[in-house]
Amino acid sequence: MVKICCIGAGYVGGPTMAVIALKCPDIEVVVVDISKPRIEAWNSDTLPIYEPGLDDVVKQCRGRNLFFSTDVEKHVAEADIIFVSVNTPTKTRGLGAGKAADLTYWESAARMIADVSKSDKIVVEKSTVPVKTAEAIEKILTHNSKGINYQILSNPEFLAEGTAIEDLFKPDRVLIGGRETPEGRKAVQALKDVYAHWVPEDRILTTNLWSAELSKLAANAFLAQRISSVNAISALCEATGANVTEVANYWKQVIKINDYQKSRFVNRVVSSMFNTVAGKKIAVLGFAFKKDTGDTRETPAIDVCKGLLGDKAQISIYDPQVTEDQIQRDLAMNKFDWDHPMHLQPTSPTAVKQVSCVWDAYEATKGAHGLCILTEWDEFKTLDYQKIFDNMQKPAFVFDGRNIVDPEKLREIGFIVYSIGKPLDAWLKDMPAVA
Ligand code: ADP
Repeated sequence: MVKICCIGAGYVGGPTMAVIALKCPDIEVVVVDISKPRIEAWNSDTLPIYEPGLDDVVKQCRGRNLFFSTDVEKHVAEADIIFVSVNTPTKTRGLGAGKAADLTYWESAARMIADVSKSDKIVVEKSTVPVKTAEAIEKILTHNSKGINYQILSNPEFLAEGTAIEDLFKPDRVLIGGRETPEGRKAVQALKDVYAHWVPEDRILTTNLWSAELSKLAANAFLAQRISSVNAISALCEATGANVTEVANYWKQVIKINDYQKSRFVNRVVSSMFNTVAGKKIAVLGFAFKKDTGDTRETPAIDVCKGLLGDKAQISIYDPQVTEDQIQRDLAMNKFDWDHPMHLQPTSPTAVKQVSCVWDAYEATKGAHGLCILTEWDEFKTLDYQKIFDNMQKPAFVFDGRNIVDPEKLREIGFIVYSIGKPLDAWLKDMPAVA
């Protein structure tokens, strides 16, 4: 029986391994992690991450051929194929801070593999890593090899959070990169055989190592560019002719534009509400970075909430999947600590007083002056907006950061509506944003 071990029970490792276990009953899959609470959650009824369909897949194979464990070394030693999907956050200090990937977790995982292995291994790179990481990892492994043969493969993940299970069931492509030597080809074939249990042959593409690594980075870059272009254009639509200079150099300013979108949104909220939100209750609907996930890493909601808190608003947040604990932690953290689950900072006392988290959209909006929609959860489309309006302060404002409400319908109820990238309400035109 082939044994797979996956290091890192996160958003990538967890769902991917659950689907492999479901589709390959003849393979034993063990997901290991150094985080005890994470593994405990994977073994409980409340999984540590939310993905539509994930519960069901885990229920079907957990205890059969899918296991979650903190005994990292034992399972690594026993495995034939080791997937590495540890976190690769952005570096917070030193050279490349704020830009380069921090490979600390990857490196320590590789050193551990070298320490405990007693048989030949196929090591699969699953996290998004800089090109040539495989070569660095290969060096760590072979320099400590004790005669063991390691084959490094790159098998980048293209799944999207919120549709991970669907994407894994029906991938448009599976990319496997490996060395172009006889041993390398054999390793590629072994991983191909795993996916071939459910993915049609013609969708499994094999390349050399570097092409596979680069494809993932290129896909991420295109995605970021697409988002920034849309953001830039939406700013143009609102301004119709004015301030084109702010968007003209956007190709060079990919990240800046995405930040600009967030500060523009906060500025709209503040300027529409008579230039101050101090002491006003603002309801925030949605905190996750997109619908159908509880993931908050890099969510625009963090910056928007921080912006509102900076202007002394009282915010009341409702998200169907994000816990209060997570929200308070995100709002207390520095920008580049988001992806460091192991170095959490204590919650700041000011944030606690100004922020409350509730489990219901009506509760969040009760008595509020304004309502901001920051995640496109389907349930926000069908809320009883008349009821919400009746319970809000007047004038009642809606700021839709995700274009999910029908502005005309809400205006009929009596709201003043701002929907990003759409023509402005007469009210808002008279109060130009200061951005
Ligand atoms: P991703 O979104 O890429 O899946 P996550 O941050 O959700 O990333 O998950 C990465 C997981 O890897 C975390 O749960 C972390 O505890 C785990 N991890 C990091 N380093 C190691 C290691 N050396 N051994 C085992 N698990 C690790």
